[in-house]
Amino acid sequence: MSIFSDVPQAPPVAVFKLTADFREDSHPQKVNLGVGAYRTDDSQPWVLPVVKKVERLIVEDDSLNHEYLPILGLPEFRSASSKVALGDDSPAIKENRVGGVQALGGTGALRIGAEFLRRWYNGTNNTATPVYVSAPTWENHNAVFADAGFKDIRPYHYWDAAKRGLDLAGLLDDLEKAPEHSIFVLHACAHNPTGTDPTQEEWKKIAEIMKRRKLFVFFDSAYQGFASGSLEKDAWAIRFFVSEGFELFVAQSFSKNFGLYNERVGNLTVVAQDNENLTRILSQMEKIVRTTWSNPPSQGARIVSKTLNSDIIGNVKTMADRVLLMRDQLKSKLQALGTPGTWDHITQQIGMFSFTGLNPKQVEYMIKEKHVYLMASGRINMCGLTTKNIDYVAQSIHEAVTK
Ligand code: PLP
Repeated sequence: MSIFSDVPQAPPVAVFKLTADFREDSHPQKVNLGVGAYRTDDSQPWVLPVVKKVERLIVEDDSLNHEYLPILGLPEFRSASSKVALGDDSPAIKENRVGGVQALGGTGALRIGAEFLRRWYNGTNNTATPVYVSAPTWENHNAVFADAGFKDIRPYHYWDAAKRGLDLAGLLDDLEKAPEHSIFVLHACAHNPTGTDPTQEEWKKIAEIMKRRKLFVFFDSAYQGFASGSLEKDAWAIRFFVSEGFELFVAQSFSKNFGLYNERVGNLTVVAQDNENLTRILSQMEKIVRTTWSNPPSQGARIVSKTLNSDIIGNVKTMADRVLLMRDQLKSKLQALGTPGTWDHITQQIGMFSFTGLNPKQVEYMIKEKHVYLMASGRINMCGLTTKNIDYVAQSIHEAVTK
């Protein structure tokens, strides 16, 4: 009898299970719209040319070695990351009140930030502070905050299924009613899974209430550049909140915009009130990192810090433009087929994902009958579409909706 015989089998992670099912499917026209990664028009992963160039320079650079990095990470990466989020000319950076914690991807940044908040925010080790995540959200948000010890994780209104857009009234109402000091996880841009972001005017309303109600802003920025093709535009909300004087966290992922998925490169940008607060915060972050991964890996951090924003943006724009093209084509094809319903939301949504509005039964039909794999929520990754499979996918959606 094993000492582990009482360990229950955990359910698989939905998005990875979907990819495994896709791999096993031998149908010649199968399409994977589940995975959260960029694909070229030939359905291949893409190593960004600028990343490849920097990787070669790193290999040739004899001054580099494999010594441990500092606990908080590569200093030039941490400052470069914060500049990507806040802007080169950010007053907060000039005032020496911005710091970074290099993390294992955006997930690591969220986890370290969550752990810090549980330990030190709104009282010491206060597990009762409500944490609000959007309904729906990236499914890992709940679990990351729960595993960090938070006991009260709540959804806030976000998606209005009937209008296929933002439920602004519901969101603002939740902000008004949340207990003071509650933590709100906000998607900085390209909301996952809905592809629906607040407009600048809507962000201003959100910020006004959050400031008045003393709510903590925890931005999750996993798609900077992917929404609009511009790093600046996609950081607008973050920069606006900083200009409004918020002390806040930004969990940054470089998995998507640099195509560095398996290098696990992320950063937790901390905007504090002043340098003295920042110093104490980072001293505690160091304690958390030390017992979590001790110190981070270097390759992804070197690549990001050696790549100028002006170089990466060309490649990011290539990805963003392909997504925009696929949005346009999918909408036109569904309209040409006369598929019932409105499909304008496909081009109104931005970023990697689109929330199609397909219901679970229609999704099941897509997978079982058409071999087109998508999340049960109806979320599709636009990058799974190519000029070769888009007719088949549009036809499949048409059949799923009309059968
Ligand atoms: N946050 C959101 C909204 C995401 O969609 C993802 C990845 O899919 C992440 C965070 C995590 O990114 P990473 O792979 O860098 O941990």
